[in-house]
Amino acid sequence: AKNFYAGPSVLPVSVLEEIQKDMVDYKGSGLSLIETSHRSAEYGQVHKNAMNLVREIFGVPDNFKILFIGGGATLQFSMIPLNFLSGGKTCDFTLTGTWSKKAYADAKKVGNVNVVYDGKDNSYTRLPDPSTLKASPGSSYFHITSNETIGGIQWKDWPDTGDVPIICDMSSDIMSRPIPFEKFGMIYAGAQKNLGPSGFAVVIIRDDMLEKCNPNMTAFLDYKVHAEKESLYNTPPVFSIYAMSLVLEKVKAEGGLKEVEKRNKEKSKLIYDVMDKSNGFYKSPVDVSVRSDMNVVFTMANEELEKEFVAQAKAKQMVGLKGHVSVGGCRASIYNSLPLSDVVALVEFMQEFQKAKS
Ligand code: PLP
Repeated sequence: AKNFYAGPSVLPVSVLEEIQKDMVDYKGSGLSLIETSHRSAEYGQVHKNAMNLVREIFGVPDNFKILFIGGGATLQFSMIPLNFLSGGKTCDFTLTGTWSKKAYADAKKVGNVNVVYDGKDNSYTRLPDPSTLKASPGSSYFHITSNETIGGIQWKDWPDTGDVPIICDMSSDIMSRPIPFEKFGMIYAGAQKNLGPSGFAVVIIRDDMLEKCNPNMTAFLDYKVHAEKESLYNTPPVFSIYAMSLVLEKVKAEGGLKEVEKRNKEKSKLIYDVMDKSNGFYKSPVDVSVRSDMNVVFTMANEELEKEFVAQAKAKQMVGLKGHVSVGGCRASIYNSLPLSDVVALVEFMQEFQKAKS
């Protein structure tokens, strides 16, 4: 099937086939990797390789640590404020859609949150000019969600917040484009869109941020513990990390993030072009300048038409095109591993459907 679901991951078929081979007998060891001790040399190699690949592909500077933490991005919504906001501190938040609001709701339970931007008035369909945003004095961090998976909006540039570190949730667009690390104190992402299977988050955190962590945190919630133990404090999600390492190998072999970004832009442009040339048959609620290259949202004249579109697409093996229940409409999630040919099939169908209904 052609997988347009918003998650969990679309994995390349070649990766799934390699996993299948290793599942019963990992590289001739006589054990599945899933059965292998996380303290063994075999898994140690997988773990280290995954970390090295993240550092290499993303160009992570030496003064950042790479952590793999079970629990997904949602756990980070708690860990971030517990580490950096406890004890009456203040942070800044940009509210740009469902996910940033969830992160905000958790942060508010721990400390003071200053809302720098709230897109409520435009129903979260546009983003502010980053150069107009300022952090508040003494703020512990400035939170941004780089891509709103449900609303389909994506930051294309970043604010300059001076000494206040930006913490960015990149769950739904990590590895889709290069990351300018000089702009961030910490980035994090649930693995399950572009990196691999669900169940953990990749956290990339600057050394000076680790120094600022709450000293009274319980072990698992303490970034310093994960950093000191190189993400082996407890049993890591070995299968997911292994599968991610295969995805990373593939991205490296195919030319890295610049190449990935080029392909993603090509894919999203195909759909946006069809929408823009449809004389309003397909409409995007999102401001043109911040349309997402990962989650393309669109609406039609009425819900009936959208339902029929989704059903007909499904009959053609194109699945997952229904928009999120909270916003309705349609959504095509076109993560890294979705092939260009699947997007071509979708746009051909969009044109056919419009013709049939006009
Ligand atoms: N942030 C964003 C932008 C997401 O899209 C998601 C999940 O889809 C999350 C956070 C939550 O991630 P998880 O399910 O890994 O907790």
